[in-house]
This record gives sequence, structure tokens and C-alpha cells, in this order.
Amino acid sequence: MDADIIVIGASPAGLMAARNACEKGSSVLLLEKKEEIGNPPHPANSFFKGMLDKCGEVADPSYVVHYLKGMQIISPSGRIVEVETPGYAIDKTKFDRFYAEKIMKTGVDLRKSIEVHDILRDGEKFSVNTSTGVFRSKLVIISDGINSKMASILGLNTMKHPEDIAWGIELEVRARDLGKPKMFEYYIGNHAPGWKTTYSPRGGDNAAIGAYVRRCGKDATPYLNAWVEKFKKLKGLEELEILRTLSGGDPIVTLPNEYITDGIMVVGGAAGQSGIGYAMRAGQICGDVAADAIGKGDVSKNALSEYRKTWEKEFRAEHYLGRIGLETLRKMTDREIDEMVAVFEKEDLSFIHGSSVEQAMQVFAFILKKKPSAIWKYRALLRNK
Ligand SMILES: Cc1cc2nc3c(=O)[nH]c(=O)nc-3n(C[C@H](O)[C@H](O)[C@H](O)COP(=O)(O)OP(=O)(O)OC[C@H]3O[C@@H](n4cnc5c(N)ncnc54)[C@H](O)[C@@H]3O)c2cc1C
Repeated sequence: MDADIIVIGASPAGLMAARNACEKGSSVLLLEKKEEIGNPPHPANSFFKGMLDKCGEVADPSYVVHYLKGMQIISPSGRIVEVETPGYAIDKTKFDRFYAEKIMKTGVDLRKSIEVHDILRDGEKFSVNTSTGVFRSKLVIISDGINSKMASILGLNTMKHPEDIAWGIELEVRARDLGKPKMFEYYIGNHAPGWKTTYSPRGGDNAAIGAYVRRCGKDATPYLNAWVEKFKKLKGLEELEILRTLSGGDPIVTLPNEYITDGIMVVGGAAGQSGIGYAMRAGQICGDVAADAIGKGDVSKNALSEYRKTWEKEFRAEHYLGRIGLETLRKMTDREIDEMVAVFEKEDLSFIHGSSVEQAMQVFAFILKKKPSAIWKYRALLRNK
């Protein structure tokens, strides 16, 4: 046996799962196919404090490139809803390395340049076949990202709605003072079907701009190209230097489905758990449950289902409400989106707090009080589109 637990992929979810399992006494081997942690980087480049709070982590200045005050949600005709909430533009390579170094200090055996090819059940053990040989463990955690080959090899349908993966492209761009504003900007509407285009200031002259779409194929390039031209006009830019292009899939509304079986747990993007903070928290839960199962000598699906129960208790409502929200948005016309945003424009929304269900109720009550007829716009969800 090479370790109690083998974790596949040094993703935010995998790093946390490895750390928590190790801290609870399991021996953990973390296998990562990249030669260097965080290189090439994943396109994710920012998060809000609320997301990090969920996993009890604090942003570290070593990877923060720019501090944000909040976000603006901008409708097709330019109506703005402003939400004050601290956020961070990050250097994702430094972020990954920060956590990799931290978790190695807890005793995790992190090995790079090892690509996992297959997982075979061998009685009570697993044989993990890799580019450098076979490793054996009692339990395997799969955290190999959105295109999880390992989960599909095992026949796990990890997402309820895989057709709803959002495909996105992020450009790192540069123009004079482009990185100085303190607000992240989300542009919603049918120029980006199913989700958004973005502008994330990254300090000085640097920024990231992106386009994310759903049900439009895996290549968001046409939407991104149109966004670049629109963005230049909006910001009065004649030139925009493009430094780097990164792309990928984000399971923002796919909802986790089948992510546990005997001796196997799937976590992070691979399990339809989107976002750095959410993936990290899911990793923590997964790592804790895995170590407990090893301690009790029972890695059956039933024993591991504590991972599902805890995750559902913390995030199920939020994920379901998020899906309903983005599905409604995908089906709305630009005019309906404008009318919806108008209800919240220039309003102080700081009264919204509590659990996601409480927040949804508060928003519902606010609409009813301010403009009851606006509720009617949400019938778009029922459209067959
Ligand atoms: C374009 C884009 C932009 C995004 N921006 C943001 C953002 O700004 N903020 C945010 O919170 N979220 C963002 N997301 C979502 C977020 O990035 C992911 O949900 C988050 O990174 C979770 O990633 P993960 O833990 O599932 O895995 P990943 O970060 O994808 O990591 C998977 C790891 O597994 C390794 N691996 C894969 N296969 C193998 C194998 N066979 N053997 C060994 N190792 C393997 C990979 O090399 C990689 O290191 C974005 C997503 C996309 C697509």
C-alpha cells in the first residue's frame, strides 16, 4: 500500500481534500500531471471574500494582485445594480503554489509530472495506473477538474445537467489604467446566452475580460470577439493588448449527481461543484469524511455518504436556487432582463443576508413591495427554450 488515500489532481478541491484527510491522520498521496503546480494556470482569476469565508480561509497577499470593493451587474441597456462585497483578483499560479506548499507541510506526499491513466479495483484495494507506474491505496479521491476522465472511466455520471456546462474564455489584457477600478463588472443579456461577459480589473494597466455561454457549443470565441469590440467602445479604448488566452468549462449550474461509490469520492469541478471557494469547501468535507472512513476501516459507499449529506446541508439550496436563477436568465429576452434589473437599480441591497433560501425570500419580498408586476417577468423560466 503506497498510502491510505490517493488524490488525483492538485486542484483547489484536491489540495483541500488531501490536507484535511492528512490532518485527520490518513497517509495521503496527491498525484498531479502538471510538471509545475499552477503552470499552465487554470483561467479562474478572482473570487469574493464570502466564498473564502465558507471554507474558513483568509486571502493571502502573496497571490492577490488587486483588491476589489464589489461587483456591478449590468443589463443589456446599461442599467447597473451595484453590490458591495470585498473581492480579490488573484494570480492563480501563485494561489495554487501557496496552497501546495502549505499542504505539503501537513505531511501530504505531493508528486508532480504523474498522469493517472486508470483506476482498478483490486479486492479491498485500488490500483492507480499512472505514467510512472502503479500506486495502491484503500480509497481514491478524484479531483481532476471539469473534464474528469477518471470519473467517466468508473462510469459515474457526476453531473445532473452536463449539457449546461458553461464554456468560457478569459483574456488577460492591458491598456492604460485598465486595472485601476475597484468593481468587478458582469454584463448579462443575450450577447452571452446563458450567462455573462466580464471585466475584472487586475491593478495598474492589467485586466481580464471574458465571455461565458451555455448551450452554444464548447467554443465561446464568437461571443468573446464581439465582447472585445463592445468592451473597447464602452471603455473608449483604441487599442487593447492581449497578453494571454485561457479557456475551459465551468459547471456553474450542472448540479452534482453521482459522486460517491465504494472507495471512491469525486470532488470539485469533476463533481459539478463550481467555483474556487465552493470546490475548496467540498474538498474539506470530502477529506474529513475520507479520513474518518479510513479510521473506521469502512470505505463503503454508505460510510462515505456522509460527504454527500454534509455537502447537501451546506450547499444544496444555494446550488438549486442558482440553477433556477441562471436558467431564468437564459430564457429571458434582453428587454425582460432590463426590466428585472431596473427593480434593483440604485437600491441599497445590504439588507439581503442569511442563508440562500432566506436571501431568495428577501429578494422576492423586495420585488413584491417595489414593483409587484416585475414578478411576472420570471415566468420566462417556464419557457421551453
Ligand atoms: C474560463 C473559466 C474561468 C473561471 N473563473 C473563475 C473565477 O474567476 N473564480 C472562481 O471561483 N471560479 C472560476 N471558474 C470556475 C473554477 O475555476 C473551477 O470551478 C475551480 O477551479 C475548481 O476547479 P477544480 O478543483 O475542479 O479543478 P481544476 O482547477 O480544473 O484542477 C484539476 C487538476 O487536476 C489535474 N489533473 C487532471 N487530470 C489528471 C490526471 N489524469 N492525472 C493527474 N492530474 C490530473 C490538472 O492538471 C489540474 O491541476 C472558472 C472556470 C472557467 C472555465
